[in-house]
Amino acid sequence: MKLLLVLSLILAAALLFVSFAGAGELAPNELGRIMILEYHKVDYPEATWTRTPENFRRDLETLYAKAYRLINLGDLLDRRFTLPAGTTPVVLTFDDSSPGQFRYLEQNGNVEIDPKSAVGILEAFAREHPDFGHGATFYVLPGANPPNHLFNQPAYEGKKLQYLVSHGYEIGNHTLWHANLGKYPEATVRAQVAEAQVWIQRHVPDYKTRTLALPHGVYPADVSWVLRGSAKGTSYSHDAVLMVAGGAAPSPYSRSFDPVHLPRIQAVERELAYWLTYFDKHPGERFVSDGDANTVTVPTSRRGQLRAEFRVQQVVVR
Ligand SMILES: [Zn+2]
Repeated sequence: MKLLLVLSLILAAALLFVSFAGAGELAPNELGRIMILEYHKVDYPEATWTRTPENFRRDLETLYAKAYRLINLGDLLDRRFTLPAGTTPVVLTFDDSSPGQFRYLEQNGNVEIDPKSAVGILEAFAREHPDFGHGATFYVLPGANPPNHLFNQPAYEGKKLQYLVSHGYEIGNHTLWHANLGKYPEATVRAQVAEAQVWIQRHVPDYKTRTLALPHGVYPADVSWVLRGSAKGTSYSHDAVLMVAGGAAPSPYSRSFDPVHLPRIQAVERELAYWLTYFDKHPGERFVSDGDANTVTVPTSRRGQLRAEFRVQQVVVR
């Protein structure tokens, strides 16, 4: 009886907390996991590496309805969570700079973003739902042959990269031409990484890629080769290396967070449905913001999972 009473008091307290937070249903848990979604082609027909424009739009609607909010990968790495209480960050990534990710249309002398390309869909969705957040990282291939050479519109490639950077998106390193880094010696690996950045800087001067997505998900013999160094007259430095699979990522407050091995979820119907259902069934596994960028809120039972640097300060245990 006594135990039951205590339990119901805890439950009442939890409900009160949530209602005070104005969040709806989810209690804050900043040790929960975060989905980093991985898109390839946005085009027709739907296939293993292709999401149709309509399905991509539906993904955004589903995420929005389930209280997910977009953040950039850089914000995740910086632990800059300026989200309303009760919402969950989600990161979008686009690999291989295929044409359907970002296309310009020329009509009657005007140039506009194709509303059926991923950037067009993202921009429209952000206008309609300003509280959804904004952002995505594009892992481009500046040295690939068509159709993956910087979205495959040579006249607009500079305009596109500049647009991304000036509109809150990130450009990531995916090597020069999608090299399988496990096959090459150090000098080739470093040249592939550095030269991709050199090419991006031809269009966006001084831009430094902050993260790298591994082509084919294959690590080089020594991961430090892609993390920092100099080659081809430029120096590069990456804070995170992204894999092609692995599920939802640990919270950056968690001891299991490893930015050099960041897992992603392939954004195809089956994988997305699996993870959305997983978090619906296990809401306690999901990162839920406390609405305060200066505090870290975690359930008491999980306090031991916090990285050492967060154990002392700023932690609100609920
Ligand atoms: Zn790729």
